[in-house]
Amino acid sequence: MYNPKSHKAEEFISHQEILDTLEYAQKNKNNIEVVDKILEKARLKKGLNHREAAVLLDCDIPEKVEEIYALAREIKQDYYGNRIVLFAPLYLSNYCVNGCVYCPYHLKNKHIPRKKLTQEEIRHEVEALQDMGHKRLAIESGEDPVNNPIEYILDSIKTIYDVKRKNGSIRRVNVNIAATTVENYKKLHEAGIGTYILFQETYHKESYEKLHPTGPKHNYVYHTEAMDRAMEAGIDDVSLGVLFGLELYRYEFAGLLMHAEHLEAAFGVGPHAISVPRIKHADDIDPNAFDNGIDDETFAKIVACIRIATPYTGMIISTRESKECREKLLNLGVSQISGGSKTSVGGYFKPMPDSEDSAQFDVSDRRPLDEVIKWLMELGYLPSFCTSCYRQGRTGDRFMEICKSQQIHNFCQPNAIMTLKEYLEDYASDETKAIGEKLILKELELIENEKIKQTVKENLKKIEQGQRDFKF
Ligand code: SAM
Repeated sequence: MYNPKSHKAEEFISHQEILDTLEYAQKNKNNIEVVDKILEKARLKKGLNHREAAVLLDCDIPEKVEEIYALAREIKQDYYGNRIVLFAPLYLSNYCVNGCVYCPYHLKNKHIPRKKLTQEEIRHEVEALQDMGHKRLAIESGEDPVNNPIEYILDSIKTIYDVKRKNGSIRRVNVNIAATTVENYKKLHEAGIGTYILFQETYHKESYEKLHPTGPKHNYVYHTEAMDRAMEAGIDDVSLGVLFGLELYRYEFAGLLMHAEHLEAAFGVGPHAISVPRIKHADDIDPNAFDNGIDDETFAKIVACIRIATPYTGMIISTRESKECREKLLNLGVSQISGGSKTSVGGYFKPMPDSEDSAQFDVSDRRPLDEVIKWLMELGYLPSFCTSCYRQGRTGDRFMEICKSQQIHNFCQPNAIMTLKEYLEDYASDETKAIGEKLILKELELIENEKIKQTVKENLKKIEQGQRDFKF
């Protein structure tokens, strides 16, 4: 029985409810009256439920599709302005005991070099990331209770926060590790993590079990209920995602939104972010072996419909996608991107020749961070390295409350400007700096509140004079 408030996976992700949703969407996708009614609700910019959003995703009336895209752009602008937050993944270890058939870290892969960073090596990686200008990381690790126990992850988080090179510091460590116990989530919470990230991969239980034939990740219920345990442990910023290409995208889309609705219904706070990865080529993985790959157009529509359905939730797109694809998705709702990423263990300090590479998947956007920043600014975006909400305790429902009242601009816009200034002073190339300085002047003028504007101006001066102890 479908029950979004239940903590049982089979009740908040009900297979039957997804099938009914897909049938409802197929039946109504070209029913102008129904589509218009949904769009009318969507224009209130307070979100849609999974059934309504599924109708929009299926709708193929050209004018309505245009309306969907236009509305996604509008919502993006209203809630996130032109800001794009930057982060980088940091791979700690690719030892893994699972058998995920889409991931080269699967246990049966005997030829991929297995690596686990020592704390010393992590320090080198973090210094290299700080030297690029990064302030926000997502740590990634395979699941292996012997090689990568929770103590190793906790030590690594501490190491990362402790590294301070020149003006560099990592101010927010998000964590993408396998589903674990409430007790371990409590430890992660105490270690001061930002967001806990866990991709569902697929919401389709039968497919899930086939795609994860061996290892602890085989347990669909344990994996699907992970966010409930994380929230029970006090982590109130969690990030969802599915790996598009594994199952039918319509099914995943409905499941993803039901998961978001469940968190809101059961804990009063929806997901902090949603990631939209697609399967990529990797060591012994051929994405063409999976039947459910989606083209760029469908992908864009999924992003637009997620933006409309969950206006308060950040949306993340990684360097799995090309520059061109990322450019298209940025104004449809994406609010956070990675830049200058390496998906191999130890890839920042000592990049490996391809043959020795331990990468998890091929990166399509290989540009250095400075180039990504320049590109964003040339497209009219304001790159942000801000981590302030987390550092000021604006997480979970406190964040959502500010976000829902559209007040988040008052925090994010000034912080984006000031963290960009830090980046320009400390790490940017001359060309990027020149573009950035002009952008900052323009963005300053857009701050309506005179008091805030004055404070920002004063802080910009302090940054120029070398001060870096702000809580951005
Ligand atoms: N090991 C952790 C777990 O089991 O959840 C998470 C870390 S894993 C390094 C991060 C994500 O990379 C996975 O959740 C999966 O969705 C994604 N991934 C794995 N193989 C991939 C591939 N070939 N292409 C794109 N993404 C992939």
